[in-house]
Amino acid sequence: MGQLSTIEKLGILADAAKYDASCASSGTAKKNSLGGPKGRGGIGSTEGMGICHAYAPDGRCISLLKILLTNHCVFDCHYCINRKSSNVRRARFSPQEVADLTIAFYRRNYIEGLFLSSGIVKSSNHTMEQLVETARILREEYDFRGYIHLKTIPEADPELVYQAGLYADRVSINVELPTDSGLTRLAPDKSARQIEGAMAKTKADIVEAKDAKKRFRHAPRFAPAGQSTQMIVGADGASDADIVGKASRLYDGFRLRRVYYSAFSPIPDASAVLPLKRPPLIREHRLYQSDWLMRFYGYQPGEVMQAAGDDGMLPLDIDPKLAWALKFRDSFPLDVNRASREQLLRVPGLGVTAVNRIIAARRHHSLRLDDVARLTQSIAKVRPFICTTDWRPTLLTDRADLRRLLAPKQEQLELFAA
Ligand code: SF4
Repeated sequence: MGQLSTIEKLGILADAAKYDASCASSGTAKKNSLGGPKGRGGIGSTEGMGICHAYAPDGRCISLLKILLTNHCVFDCHYCINRKSSNVRRARFSPQEVADLTIAFYRRNYIEGLFLSSGIVKSSNHTMEQLVETARILREEYDFRGYIHLKTIPEADPELVYQAGLYADRVSINVELPTDSGLTRLAPDKSARQIEGAMAKTKADIVEAKDAKKRFRHAPRFAPAGQSTQMIVGADGASDADIVGKASRLYDGFRLRRVYYSAFSPIPDASAVLPLKRPPLIREHRLYQSDWLMRFYGYQPGEVMQAAGDDGMLPLDIDPKLAWALKFRDSFPLDVNRASREQLLRVPGLGVTAVNRIIAARRHHSLRLDDVARLTQSIAKVRPFICTTDWRPTLLTDRADLRRLLAPKQEQLELFAA
């Protein structure tokens, strides 16, 4: 194979990175830039590779160059297009090349940071050294102050992983699969114990760096945007309840900022142990909603699991909060003029903003149904679960067909949708 040009390497390594969902631009569908009216391709697709988006602690959305250092890999994870036995075109950047590309794109205002991962070349330590070296060049030689997210390798020497945290804003280690048995079957070179050990060490380093910063102004920063992880959904037989349970243990045990869920997508030349079809994308969406319930709505993992069916799967036609409310109708209706904030957050159709507005408004006067309608997006969804000074749902809350009334109308499927 002849020498690849930078643009060819960029094409291969940005495309190879798109399967990692650990930044926030996954989950969209439908728009594709290929085949525009003049054969030149359209613009504005959110499905392409190369740039992803993350959210800064102040809520700003930032664009990141998202690439792999290399898609060569000595591991053979069945679900991964870059695995040793996969028949894909391979490419490799040096740390200097990635640093130069990042700076060139940054100066053109294309990106504000870098999301860098890698296949494992030679050894875990060698690969981790290359990732750290890229971040070092950016920070120390180019004085780059932008956002850097580095994937770390759990099998690497902890000192190298520590170095990564000194340069990066965020570090992440993928747990990959929700169950240890799934990991053993589909990623035979990886070990759940090593992955969780590396997460525990990173958590301790983050806590220690924060404490030191309080005491010494010049103490080094360590991954100030925390650590995150990714779980692949639908590649093994794990149920949604398994996934929710695992995510909750990870949040509690390692203080993760985010768990990302990535619906498994069949890859070219796939291993025979994988399913032939991807799970519905809506399953990934329902898992993100359940994650939201645990992080912002005060639901315990066991309560989210109660929203699932006997098979441990969350319903796809309605969101998990509505599913829970329909199962526990005796908790409703709630009087919006008296219920606590925690109780109001359980009402389907009331988000955090709406609940805050209701609590602020009821300090001044008792709320009527019209008042609540003005403060919410869809009063139709809220009505069966609340009382106001002029409204009681009476038998509506207990209607046998309430689920059908509240489920979003099914959309006509696209003929050629996956
Ligand atoms: S370690 Fe596994 S998941 Fe990571 S690049 Fe190699 S084969 Fe893919």
